[in-house]
Amino acid sequence: MDARRQAKLVAAHQRYEQTMQQHPELWAIEKQLIELHRQKALREASYSPATWEERVHTLEMRRTAYLHEHKIPQDFGQPQWDCQLCQDSGIYEGRICSCEQQRILESRFKGAHLPSRLQEQTFSKFSLDWYSPARKTPLGVSEREQAAAVLHACQAFVAAVIEAPRSATGLFLTGQTGLGKTFLCSAICHSLAENGIVPLYIVFSDLISDMRASFQYDSGDADLLATARQAPVLILDDLGAEHVTEYAISRLFDIINYRRNERLPMVISSNLSLTDVASIYSPRVASRIIEACQPVLLYGTDIRTQQRKLGISSN
Ligand SMILES: [Zn+2]
Repeated sequence: MDARRQAKLVAAHQRYEQTMQQHPELWAIEKQLIELHRQKALREASYSPATWEERVHTLEMRRTAYLHEHKIPQDFGQPQWDCQLCQDSGIYEGRICSCEQQRILESRFKGAHLPSRLQEQTFSKFSLDWYSPARKTPLGVSEREQAAAVLHACQAFVAAVIEAPRSATGLFLTGQTGLGKTFLCSAICHSLAENGIVPLYIVFSDLISDMRASFQYDSGDADLLATARQAPVLILDDLGAEHVTEYAISRLFDIINYRRNERLPMVISSNLSLTDVASIYSPRVASRIIEACQPVLLYGTDIRTQQRKLGISSN
């Protein structure tokens, strides 16, 4: 943490030096500002309180205009923190910052992180345009109306978790591949994180392979199992994409059963229906999911296929 912070500070300093070397005009303004601040701090004879404020203001305006004109960010000399809350110190308002909690989670599971491309996926960027307003779903509403209802359910889940985590009903998010399930999982994570709640987001196959690896080569998978069971919120993405084994089935049951009993909220996304889950993973896995999660279904046409046809590079 300290090394990362240090690197950001050094980078900011270098950016400042470089910019000043490349822009003598900017440096001239900067020098005058430094001089004025020095005069004030030392209460030198040359310091004149009557005109000081105005001179500083004029110079600052010139600096702002110069930066703008040369397309230099106004905060070019400031460190670019990953976390604005704690400025990468890991401590915010006397407590461990949510970014640090996230890092702790991610350090336990290799697979537990939102790939950077997913960082962009927020509720406000979820577009209903990809869902047909005309085609009807088996539920009687259009695909777009249904997608809007699913979006609303995801936002309501986040609101419920913020309000009272143990009363929040989870979500079982299903639908064919490419309908935005991962997007919504990711948006839920971001929205929770913005509110200081750190979810464990993991693709189910990654969870199983991480646990299997520690089970075989390490001291056992109890530690990872405990983390998956006890994370404040678990977002289990893409259930059903993995190679189904007895091991995967028993761990899945264990995690879901524990969380249901402890009333710890979870979101499970899958291409599978609950009937498929019952036949592939066992009826008791399906019944625990039904008890803990509200099923929400997406209908439509693979968004990536639609985007390819339109020549839009998808993520
Ligand atoms: Zn932070």
